Amino acid sequence: MIRALLFLTTVAVATSCNTVKTPEKTSDGTTAKSDTARTTAANPLLAPWSGPFGGVPPLDSVRVEHFRPALESAMAEELAEVDAIATSKEPPTFENTIAALERSGRTLARVQTVYAIHASTLSTPAFQAVESEMAPRLAELADKIVQNEKLFARIAAVYGAREKSGLTAEQKRLAWLVHSNFVHAGAKLPAPAKARLTEINQRLASVFTRFNKSVLADETGIVHVLASEADLAGLPESIRSSAAAAAEARGEKGKWVIANTRSSAEPFLTYSDRRDLREKVWRTYYARGNNGDANDTKVLITEILQLRAERARLLGFETHAHWKLEKSMAKTPEATLALMESVWKPAVLRVHEEVADMQAFADREGAQITIEGWDYRYYAEKVRKEKYDFDQGALQPYLQLDNLRDALFFTADELFGLEFTPVANLPLLLPEIRVYEVKEKGQHVGLWYFDPYARAGKRSGAWMNAYRRQERFDGDVATIVSNNCNFVKGAPGEPVLISWDDARTLFHEFGHALHGLLSNVSYPSVSGTAVFRDYVEFPSQVVEQWLETPEVLSRFALHYKTGEPMPKELLDKLQRASTFNQGFTTVEYLASALVDMKLHLAATPDKAIDPAAFERDTLAALGMPKEIVMRHRTTQFGHLFSSDGYAAGYYSYLWSEVHSADAWEAFVEAGSPWDEATAKKLRDHVFSIGNTIDPADGYRAFRGRDAQSDALMRERGFVAE
Ligand SMILES: [Zn+2]
Repeated sequence: MIRALLFLTTVAVATSCNTVKTPEKTSDGTTAKSDTARTTAANPLLAPWSGPFGGVPPLDSVRVEHFRPALESAMAEELAEVDAIATSKEPPTFENTIAALERSGRTLARVQTVYAIHASTLSTPAFQAVESEMAPRLAELADKIVQNEKLFARIAAVYGAREKSGLTAEQKRLAWLVHSNFVHAGAKLPAPAKARLTEINQRLASVFTRFNKSVLADETGIVHVLASEADLAGLPESIRSSAAAAAEARGEKGKWVIANTRSSAEPFLTYSDRRDLREKVWRTYYARGNNGDANDTKVLITEILQLRAERARLLGFETHAHWKLEKSMAKTPEATLALMESVWKPAVLRVHEEVADMQAFADREGAQITIEGWDYRYYAEKVRKEKYDFDQGALQPYLQLDNLRDALFFTADELFGLEFTPVANLPLLLPEIRVYEVKEKGQHVGLWYFDPYARAGKRSGAWMNAYRRQERFDGDVATIVSNNCNFVKGAPGEPVLISWDDARTLFHEFGHALHGLLSNVSYPSVSGTAVFRDYVEFPSQVVEQWLETPEVLSRFALHYKTGEPMPKELLDKLQRASTFNQGFTTVEYLASALVDMKLHLAATPDKAIDPAAFERDTLAALGMPKEIVMRHRTTQFGHLFSSDGYAAGYYSYLWSEVHSADAWEAFVEAGSPWDEATAKKLRDHVFSIGNTIDPADGYRAFRGRDAQSDALMRERGFVAE
């Protein structure tokens, strides 16, 4: 399969997380060419994966200097393989064209798998230098394949004959997918347009890399140093100790450091009693990329928007958003706007209620303030305590990471009959990473790598990654998936306690892993999570729901000192408070998603959009509550500007949530979260089918009808039950 053309290749990430590209190509079925055999000895990236389970990635023997030569060699190999398919003397058939493409590029897929693991979990300045150099060259390779006219003629011939050439339903779908991906990427354009397209894609790849570096520089280069106890007022012990450790790491022992990152800024804004410091931290955090200095991203964004608009016009679309949405479940920008706007209005009304509650609280305290952006998280916590007598922190002693990992395994077993057992002695990047073999009825299903801890060079947030996709067209290939988080390690011998939100994230990412593990298809390009981006978050979001079941909590949410299960009273409070602050959460997210879509609808090749002015005017027109800012302000919106991944696609989380909320109600209607018949349908029509059928058809087969958005409105508490 062609790495470059799987437009949706990716990892799926939670809203709170950074994106990571997953290489789509998998498995090592191909024989290394004789001329690469020589280099293989010196470069572990080029060898087929060795070891048990059909081979595993050589994570213990790769060094940064291996990447460039390995990528160059593997790119040349892929081009040669594609060229051989394109110039075949045989008449084009599914087997010698589409299936042959699925077989091609195996070495590059393996190299890129390890490359992506380093990029997301162990990125160093030396690695970043390789990335800057290779990003435009990888973009160029993709265009060379799309623009190979002989190859496209053969693909078009196979696609044209698909109804009368005896293909299976999956083969027909794959022929359609490959053909439509080529057309989408410009295969039908005249030569001068193709040349310009290549220039645009390479330029974009370079600007994306610069955007990333700039935002990272503002996150790591700016810190708040707190010098006295008085600066720590209100902060719980866990924040104090991590701030002290951060200071020590910077050579300022005895002080405290708050980094300019989400994981440091958000807890500070939630707990600090010092309103002056909250304002400072808030202003600095939301100004990333917008400081008028060398790291300001506005000029990069203006260029990205113009290039994307020009590319869309070349490809025959009105805007980048129209082009992008062609490859989605939503299909049109209008459909996404209609959904977003229907949720926006009740969410804004809820924000006004939330602000009124907080203002009343502040007034009773005699604070003599008007609620501002830097007060929202702080007073929301106070109101939560007052209204529901519920403190999120009270859950934490019951949420031990090891127990919650076992809860994931319990859920997978109860729903789908999957069993997880630890595997030792596989090559690992670091010893703290764990690997589990997954079996069903004694048969090997795949491997699950779990990398739970934060470290320098690891991206923040959480994500899933497919190291190898399931396939069986040339014999069974089992999948290898991984889950990655950023938990802070406990002291030696102490359990790692995580927050309720983190526990949900753990279940979310495990949902993506199950989507990969349960895949049961023939071809890797349509396997597992290789589905439309606005559908891929549905399986992961729905799995979050099982965390809250009594069966999971009573077995696994055990107090780390007493071993007692979480008291029912605490659970009841948690449930009563479940729709609390949903106005804030929804508006913070939706403002970002709406600005994304509107930016990409407004951009044209010849208009230089000022991102700051556009953001200000768009939010004013929407009626953005003044107490909230976008979750990702435009100048720091990595989803949109560090790749094409989520550009005109940030709405995807909401689109998927319509499906996950509606799907969960199928279990509620069946009377149990563990209802066997419903779980089987979910597996048969969602988790196992990858992209072998239209997702709307798959959903309908599961639910008996299309998804309805009222389940989402109930989940968020925007309609009366
Ligand atoms: Zn996700």
